[in-house]
Amino acid sequence: MRLGVRSVRNVALGLSLISANRSGGCEKFEYERYWSMSLARGVAAQSISRLRGIGSPSEAYVLGLLSEIGTLALASVYPREYSGILAAHPGASVAASGRYEREAFDIDHCEVGAYMLEDWGIPQSQAEALLSYETFNPKQQEEDRRSAATTGVLWSAQAVAELLFADENSAADVWSQHAVRLALVRDYLGLEEPAFAELCESISREWQEWNGILKLPKRSPLRYEQFSQRAAAVGTLPETSSAPAESGAAPGASVVPAAPAAPTGLHVLAVDDDPMSLKLIERTLRKAGHRVTCARDGREALQIALEVNPQVVLADWMMPEIDGLDLCRALRRIESGQDMYFLLLTGRDDEDRVVEAFDAGVDDYVAKPFNARILMARLKGGQRVIELKAKVEADRQVMMQQVAELGSLTRKLRTAALTDALTDLPNRRYIMKRLEQEWDASCRTNRPLSVIMLDIDFFKKVNDVHGHDVGDVVLKESANVLRASVRQGEEVARLGGEEFLVVCPNANVAQARICAERIRLAIERNVIKCGSFERNVTVSLGVAERKPGTANYEALFKASDEAVYAAKNNGRNQVRIADETSSVAKTA
Ligand code: GH3
Ligand code: MG
Ligand code: MG
Repeated sequence: MRLGVRSVRNVALGLSLISANRSGGCEKFEYERYWSMSLARGVAAQSISRLRGIGSPSEAYVLGLLSEIGTLALASVYPREYSGILAAHPGASVAASGRYEREAFDIDHCEVGAYMLEDWGIPQSQAEALLSYETFNPKQQEEDRRSAATTGVLWSAQAVAELLFADENSAADVWSQHAVRLALVRDYLGLEEPAFAELCESISREWQEWNGILKLPKRSPLRYEQFSQRAAAVGTLPETSSAPAESGAAPGASVVPAAPAAPTGLHVLAVDDDPMSLKLIERTLRKAGHRVTCARDGREALQIALEVNPQVVLADWMMPEIDGLDLCRALRRIESGQDMYFLLLTGRDDEDRVVEAFDAGVDDYVAKPFNARILMARLKGGQRVIELKAKVEADRQVMMQQVAELGSLTRKLRTAALTDALTDLPNRRYIMKRLEQEWDASCRTNRPLSVIMLDIDFFKKVNDVHGHDVGDVVLKESANVLRASVRQGEEVARLGGEEFLVVCPNANVAQARICAERIRLAIERNVIKCGSFERNVTVSLGVAERKPGTANYEALFKASDEAVYAAKNNGRNQVRIADETSSVAKTA
């Protein structure tokens, strides 16, 4: 209260939204820039949604703020790998980075983001805008304007946000890209130059204010005017090419800030042992639109406070038995009482004792006989604190939920990153890690360890003759047979293409060979039916066991690979054992 409610609110907002993520373990990820850009996009999306009458501006704000959340999630879940991507492709556009992400994680930030928003209860139709807004083309969306609306808002917001980050010293081609894109946005929004300039300016002002509030690095973006001069100099800012759009926005419309919410009445518990005074307080409060419950002394007040849980307690100091301070102390000792805003009525002579009152936990005081306007002003201060507390609590709840959900997303992502999408078997990344662990365990305990590598014979022909889709079915069916043929403790994975690996802990070469033969037979006997394809396939298998001379798990892996090669050379559909002394494999 003493600092001013506005500063308190700013601190609370800054803490609840951004502090938790303003830095992190991904070295190359610019966290603060990320948030500043997200804010710019949020503010822009809100203004554009309001201007065009598309959806709810506050929803647009949230969507704009979170539309790149997938990058933050990937950088948090895979800090090292993501840093690698950023280092390898500096300055890559968000759309381009999706490709690198898919190569590394089998998923990109758009998908992750849409998935997260849906998880957080944002309607699917809106969450899905994340999948396409980066590549939105306003000229191609004529037929389906409705579904494209949110996408269009995000796309426009991103363009304006990028303008705020534009660097005066960038090369001419960067400028012309900005200019062309902004001209498209201006036409898409159906605005004339002055109105569009005003829109950009107002977004810029609001964004800078937010940056300041949230203590993000200060930036002074180019003014729109400077931008258009610069763009005109490179000769790329085309004239407005279409008539103002049919949307609700009139040309020249400027952005109107949302009206502040009308204050609503508070529930006040008024306590005074003087009936006349109590009546007066009650009347004054009711007239101002508050809901009032009355109590005639401290004891009654305590009882009623516990029952009705008021937002404000307005109590006289001097009362028999339990006075105002005792009442305050008693309330502060219970949980529900800690949130009540406590206003103390003091006699004129008590003013120099108010320090004692603040020590007891009161929030503010009003001298008696009270002046109605001052009492209302003090209550207004109280109301702000109450609303702020409610907002902080709501934010805290949302954050707790998000933390829990991010945890579950992390688990899902981890599973996705280690699973082959076609066959649902573990993938190469997983099995190599697993092999390394089994290798270490086997060296430690001196138990045997074997691996079986297998490769489908003449698989390319299946694709060539029957098509890739049939090839996929053959891979899936073969994976199912493999899964059914291995024993508990053995692990099978798809290495890639039509190659698979089985890790057999505690198995020597003789036992692994039996397993390999079992697999070979099961595949050979399994007839696969799919369209024109109706026959079995065969596999060539290579078995290798860890020997004293095997250098490491990679050498073991390589030995099994060479044995597969030998099996292929020897006529396919057979098991070969890696030779322990040389890399030449022999017939099983
Ligand atoms: P070999 O008996 O010597 O192993 O001959 P092959 O034809 O099985 O071997 P090759 O390595 O020449 O061909 C493997 C083919 O597998 C080539 C590639 O197009 C195909 N392939 C790789 N991944 C997939 C996939 O996910 N789906 C489908 N349908 N085909 C795939
Ligand atoms: Mg093959
Ligand atoms: Mg192959």
